[in-house]
Amino acid sequence: MFQKVYFWNIFLCAGTQKAVGVHMWNGGDEKMSEVFNVEEIFAKNLFTLTKMRQRLTKSAYKEVVRVMNEGGELSMDVANVVAKAMKDWAVENGATHYTHWFQPLTGITAEKHDAFVTHPDETGNMLTEFSGKELIKGEPDASSFPSGGLRATFEARGYTAWDITSPAFLKESGCGKILCIPTAFCSYTGEALDKKTPLLRSMEALSEQALRIVRLFGNTEATKVTASVGPEQEYFLVDKDLYMQRTDLMFAGRTLFGAPAPKGQEMEDHYFGVIRERVGEYMKDLNEELWKLGVTAKTQHNEVAPAQHELAPIYETANIAVDHNQLVMETMKRVAIRHGMRCLLHEKPYAGVNGSGKHDNWSITTDNGVNLLDPGDTPNENVQFLLVLACIMKAVDTHADLLRQSASDVGNDHRLGANEAPPAIISIFLGEQLEDVVNQLIETGEATSVKEGGKLLTGVKTLPDFQKDATDRNRTSPFAFTGNKFEFRMVGSADSIASPNTTLNAIVAEAFCEAADRLEKAENLELAIHDLIKEYMTAHRRIVFNGNGYAEEWVEEAERRGLPNIKSMIEAANTLTTDKAVKLFEKFHIFTKVELESREEIIYETYAKTINIEALAMIDMAGKQIIPAVIKYSKSLADTVNAVKAAGADASTQTELLQEVSGHLAAMQAALKKLEKVEKEASAMEDVKEQAFFYKDCVKVVMEELRAPADKLEMIVDKEMWPIPTYGELMFEI
Ligand code: ADP
Ligand code: MG
Repeated sequence: MFQKVYFWNIFLCAGTQKAVGVHMWNGGDEKMSEVFNVEEIFAKNLFTLTKMRQRLTKSAYKEVVRVMNEGGELSMDVANVVAKAMKDWAVENGATHYTHWFQPLTGITAEKHDAFVTHPDETGNMLTEFSGKELIKGEPDASSFPSGGLRATFEARGYTAWDITSPAFLKESGCGKILCIPTAFCSYTGEALDKKTPLLRSMEALSEQALRIVRLFGNTEATKVTASVGPEQEYFLVDKDLYMQRTDLMFAGRTLFGAPAPKGQEMEDHYFGVIRERVGEYMKDLNEELWKLGVTAKTQHNEVAPAQHELAPIYETANIAVDHNQLVMETMKRVAIRHGMRCLLHEKPYAGVNGSGKHDNWSITTDNGVNLLDPGDTPNENVQFLLVLACIMKAVDTHADLLRQSASDVGNDHRLGANEAPPAIISIFLGEQLEDVVNQLIETGEATSVKEGGKLLTGVKTLPDFQKDATDRNRTSPFAFTGNKFEFRMVGSADSIASPNTTLNAIVAEAFCEAADRLEKAENLELAIHDLIKEYMTAHRRIVFNGNGYAEEWVEEAERRGLPNIKSMIEAANTLTTDKAVKLFEKFHIFTKVELESREEIIYETYAKTINIEALAMIDMAGKQIIPAVIKYSKSLADTVNAVKAAGADASTQTELLQEVSGHLAAMQAALKKLEKVEKEASAMEDVKEQAFFYKDCVKVVMEELRAPADKLEMIVDKEMWPIPTYGELMFEI
């Protein structure tokens, strides 16, 4: 699991041929050279299998590996041995506390620190202690986490249980070093209160069903099939001093006012552009922190919008990828503070330029090394691949609504369907080569040929000619096949990737299960597989779309095909509790109906609370900052008008300007009053679903009414008097 990763390609110093990065510059022009070795620091803060092997007895180590791979429980004796070894390692490395680190339904992580301190003996000596019981189980008071009605406050007991498949790590922060033990979080009655439990359940379901598929093809060696995930994380950076002057950024994570800067992203000069010095220093620090945690931060670059960047790690087992993505987001924010900046993970911090997403690259691999999504050079002959593909087409078409739901969060409503990023309509991009194979299969029942990539002729003698991929890329598809994996591009940048992957695993497990049920009984297996592939592909061909997902025609075409187009997070919420969804999730013991209902309710709650914060931030900024500034400006204009007139000159331009300002000001004041009123009305509503829809259909609309005149005023009012940093400053002064 913890294979060695070589980063020498990123940090190769010319001439040395060593994995050494040399970093310099300590302020002014004093050069400081600090050398670090990526191989040495990698996983320094991670309690890896190697460390366990060194510190555990042989039998305890074997037991840990067995439970990791096959499931089951550690005996208390072994748990005690593991706990002691883990504690010793942590304390030797400077840790003072431990925590059960979990992922409640807030979408972020939670921790409560306990020191290793124990009662001193009679001589006053204290020996640190950490027991197997403390390692395996925790009992945080669960009443203050979202539960969607699952747990009344008088039944507050919640449990955290060690996820042995995700290694413990040391987190370094202002608190010092904390030993973090990744855990699942459940209620007293066993319902999942977190994002990890269902994910682990879905991984088991997928493994079990995928094994049935590979067995059909004679693979008797594989004992497990694992979903692998590589999430590409986009983010914005902003200067701290400017951020602190924006109530909206501080409280809502996005700008609620702001006229476009003279320059946006139209020059296409930021994407892959040279990384600015300050940002580069941030990235260097971020990588170092992540490598220490065993996160394989690999790729970094500037993204499309000004001040937008991306970090992609190397893919890992789904649950570790989920944990690591949480650490990536957390570390991004922490390191930004250290560099006098703030990291914005919101999906749409600025109107008018690209938002941020998180491409969730997903594939499934057997433990004897077969990637079920690898078509090979001749996909038309790779029957196992074609069966897997047919099942995925069926899964995605049948549960397009659930997949869309799994990628929704409040911020992502600004992306999905808002004519950027992927549209809110789920479709699959297969690319030319595969689509051709699928078409042949549907039309003739046989795929006899395969389109080849051919040669790319560079036309320059000194450049090599390339073997082209058989398929070009498509950037507008929400679910694109990219060689040996699918890339689910709808996921929001601020969101946990647990739900999308839980859903993907679940829907594909169901399709595998249904196929296996039929094929295992077949008398002529070859024929049955052939028929099933043709049947599934024909029935679900409508989900395949290789064209431009941003085009208006696609929306109409998708409607003709009967594909769902769910516009917002709260409209997607009830897809969780349809009979179809309940049947799916209950069949594979991923969610009970009650758990699904609670999750639907949490969606409404989260939505209402988030929009409420945004509305209050707008009311605050409009009332205390923007309107007073505009009043001051109009007074100075009025004074000018009088002075110019008194001097006997023509004041018509100044008067016209004053009238324009007064008009927008009146519109702002009216919208402000209206927003105050609807916000009060919304807050007082009892039914969470009704409330969420009221926020969407009424409060958000009034927020737009308030923003429009304010943004116009920003373009007119004297810059010296405008009370908040502008888009130009926020995005270009970094
Ligand atoms: P692309 O350029 O097509 O987006 P990259 O190779 O840059 O592909 O990979 C993007 C992300 O996908 C990375 O996080 C990478 O580790 C991950 N990835 C690559 N192969 C797989 C795979 N088989 N399964 C899951 N994720 C993968
Ligand atoms: Mg990609």
